[in-house]
Amino acid sequence: MEKIKMPTPLVEMDGDEMTRVIWKMIKDILLAPYIDLNTEYYDLGLVHRNETNDRVTIDSANAAKKYGVAVKCATITPNAQRMTEYDLKEMWKSPNGTIRAILDGTVFRAPIIVKGITPLIPTWKKPITIARHAYGDVYKNTEMTVPDGAKAELVVTDKDGNETRELIHNFKGSDGIIQGLHNIDESIASFARSCFNFALDIKQDLWFAAKDTISKKYDHRFKDIFREIYDREYDEKFKAAGIEYFYTLIDDAVARVVRSEGGYIWACKNYDGDVMSDMVATAFGSLGMMTSVLVSPDGIYEYEAAHGTVTRHYYKHLKGEETSTNSVATIFAWSGALKKRGQLDNVKELCGFAEKLEKATVQTIEDGVMTGDLYVLSDLENKKKVNTEDFLKEIKIRLDQLL
Ligand code: NAP
Ligand code: MG
Repeated sequence: MEKIKMPTPLVEMDGDEMTRVIWKMIKDILLAPYIDLNTEYYDLGLVHRNETNDRVTIDSANAAKKYGVAVKCATITPNAQRMTEYDLKEMWKSPNGTIRAILDGTVFRAPIIVKGITPLIPTWKKPITIARHAYGDVYKNTEMTVPDGAKAELVVTDKDGNETRELIHNFKGSDGIIQGLHNIDESIASFARSCFNFALDIKQDLWFAAKDTISKKYDHRFKDIFREIYDREYDEKFKAAGIEYFYTLIDDAVARVVRSEGGYIWACKNYDGDVMSDMVATAFGSLGMMTSVLVSPDGIYEYEAAHGTVTRHYYKHLKGEETSTNSVATIFAWSGALKKRGQLDNVKELCGFAEKLEKATVQTIEDGVMTGDLYVLSDLENKKKVNTEDFLKEIKIRLDQLL
């Protein structure tokens, strides 16, 4: 078989620890034998980020902007312990945070569903994709403790110096606490567009929920901005694609999600997304089966696994011990990126290959061959636990049959 050609490069962002080990194995075993891989390579491993004063992260994000599609390996976000472990010049920021700020994107997280791993919520048959607004609210708040007898107010000073005041609370008889939150229309609008575009891309309904009945200005603004953009820019496209935009109150949304069979995108405000993404991920099974894609409002896609660098397994690997690390989410990051590249460049073979790679991966697990994290969850009878590399080789056997 002749190798598939890629006319436009895919931006490849390498990473750290166990996922870096897996990254190379996936390329060697599942990609390079079939594709003439055309990637623009950026090494986001912590050693190289430190050498370049984190310039490489910024360069990689700009390359994603240029080419439109990127695939990223998990990376270490440094903390005090990593400062000594890697002898770092600075506590470099989270690469994901840096990339997200440059692309102004929204993160969509979706589980990969396989037979044998039953969601904890039995009605869930299809993936639920969570989109989290990653700006403002409680994550950029200002808080104060307030003594008894004090009056707390919101004060806004406009550019001409005029003040507008609103009473928060007169504290009488007890000390208390206050919190100031903000968001900006521009960020909410970007979030809305990313969600509408992604819904069109994967042809699934979009749900959005807030608490506009209680928060008549703050949450209501989110609801209004989504509605205005939908009516003006997306209504016709959604109808043509046969999908729906649906707004409801957040508590009603939670109840509906639990009763639903899945198969839609759930757009969440920042805090709701933080909480609900962990709930949904846990209920679907393993972190090793959760994919993540960053989508910018102007249609740039960056694919990755939702999990981290799996440090504990990496230290075992370094000691020469056998590991059984799940590579599925990282494989799907590659297949997602290759499929998107193929769609944009109109290379059908690339899209077809990506789909077969996903099929072979799911087939392997459904045949009972899986890594340790899934082995403990699977209800298949003839299940077998394999090591990190053998899992990839088992996928290759099935991929060769499909090609
Ligand atoms: P983690 O790497 O996601 O791993 C946490 C635990 O979850 C693992 O020890 C393992 O459990 C299980 N697990 C996660 N992915 C797995 C997989 N693919 N296969 C099998 N088991 C898996 O999270 P962490 O240990 O909190 O973070 C490690 C490093 O990753 C940190 O330096 C952090 O900064 C970074 N991180 C990066 C990203 C990113 O780049 N997107 C995201 C999160 C964290 P057992 O040990 O019980 O087997
Ligand atoms: Mg969380």
